[in-house]
Amino acid sequence: MSQRSSATAANDFSGPVFTMDELRQITEHLLHFSPDALIVVDDSARIRFANDTVMTLLGYEPRALIGQPVDALIPDRLRLHHGQHTADYLRAPVNREMGARITELFARRADGSEFAAGIRLAPFRIDGKLFVAAAIRDTTERQLVNDELVAARKDADRANRAKSRFLATASHDLRQPMQTIRLLNAALLKLVPQPEIRELLAQQGQAIESMTRLLNALLDISRLESGGVEPVSVEVKVGEVFEELRTEFESLAHERGLDLRMETTNVTLSTDRTLFCQLLQNLLGNAIKYTDRGWVHLRCLEEAEGVAISVEDSGIGIPEDKLERIFDEYYQVDTHGAKRMGVGLGLAIVREVARLLGFSVKILSKVGDGTRVVLRIPNQYRVAVTSQASNVAAEVGNAPKRKARLILVEDNDGVRLATELFLKLEGHETLSAPTLAEAEALLERLRPGDLVIADYHLDDNNTGLDMLLRFRERRGYDVPGIVLSGDLPAVLRAVKTTVPACRFLSKPVDTTALIEAINELSAESRN
Ligand code: ADP
Repeated sequence: MSQRSSATAANDFSGPVFTMDELRQITEHLLHFSPDALIVVDDSARIRFANDTVMTLLGYEPRALIGQPVDALIPDRLRLHHGQHTADYLRAPVNREMGARITELFARRADGSEFAAGIRLAPFRIDGKLFVAAAIRDTTERQLVNDELVAARKDADRANRAKSRFLATASHDLRQPMQTIRLLNAALLKLVPQPEIRELLAQQGQAIESMTRLLNALLDISRLESGGVEPVSVEVKVGEVFEELRTEFESLAHERGLDLRMETTNVTLSTDRTLFCQLLQNLLGNAIKYTDRGWVHLRCLEEAEGVAISVEDSGIGIPEDKLERIFDEYYQVDTHGAKRMGVGLGLAIVREVARLLGFSVKILSKVGDGTRVVLRIPNQYRVAVTSQASNVAAEVGNAPKRKARLILVEDNDGVRLATELFLKLEGHETLSAPTLAEAEALLERLRPGDLVIADYHLDDNNTGLDMLLRFRERRGYDVPGIVLSGDLPAVLRAVKTTVPACRFLSKPVDTTALIEAINELSAESRN
């Protein structure tokens, strides 16, 4: 054995090398005073060797252990189990950590006390006879740290769930008063002629808008995080969704002087429509928000592995070193000047929703050049296209307005009174009911052409939609209706199919959208 040559081969160390005699002394020292207690047992599980560390760790004179069954080192309460493990091990001995299959391993000291132990086993043979060397160490410290970590992790998970629940409840409950404030703001704008006050009200309206957006984002992220969102797959025509998005974002893009381009596509997906729309809304919203001049482009590309939907803009771009964190909650790049344009939840929602739907999201960006976000949808979510004529949208936008009579069913007093006031100022005759029973009585007075506006969550057993559908059955025609909800995505998923002559609007309700829905429905019901 050439110790010198192997030592010098590993590196250029040229100091003195141990002689064979010194090496023997070192080995002996290590064997007897190793940091771990070492024992050797034979094939009948009797101890045949114990080193000096056995004294410090287990309180035994090494000699006293020779010839003892290894069970002597096991706490009484675990002996039965251990006997079985030892027998199994001796049948198929391998070099391994003991307790890999037992979560808690304990050793017994000479005085009967026990400690959490880590034991490593190494079998070997002398003249064909099996022996097993065992290195034993006290892992009490490690176990304690481990227990603390597990407990801390549990606490953190619990706190995180509580935070998500709190956020979901708070943002949901804040919607009712928000709805009232919003409607009152719209009503005041109708009533007040003085330009200075109208200006103040318009500013108030903008603050209400951004608060509504924040509430929606908080509710979305907390529901997504707490696992409260279950996607419901339906056939979704991507081209139709693009058209809806065009309607939604056209005026905003126009206001910012941007060219909003959307390519036609006949791709059909099997996915959750509401969540899919939410993904694209967030991406498109960002593209428009962070682009001062130029264009925003939405495309659906067919690739070998699936479909790629890209949202591209010619905007300010994102610095490369920030791209990694861009999907984190509340993360915002601080290069957009003093004005913060969002709350930093949009992309966190995109990430969660994409994960839920089985899509991947990739973001490419260059400061000053623009940003491209690509949503990749694997082929498994594609539906074979049946060559159908492209969507024929009903043209109702230009129908002449007529003031429909409205029946409003809303159990929250503030929201009901504000809605009534707003609708009256819009010139609609409005009857309102706070409870289902009163609504039933009102509905008896319903005339053809009247329209029902109902809150979705009326009481524990009945939704506004149930009420409307029951009433339609009794009347024998599709009484037009608008259903309002503080948690529209959940409602749309629960409803699954489209309901004729019915619109679903999110609370706090956008007053323009409410008036549009009323106009459209009353125009439809006249045809
Ligand atoms: P925010 O509410 O701030 O828009 P997001 O989570 O949607 O939050 O986005 C996080 C940050 O990523 C934004 O603050 C913005 O700095 C950056 N960002 C997102 N989309 C774009 C984009 N299309 N162009 C430039 N920056 C973007």
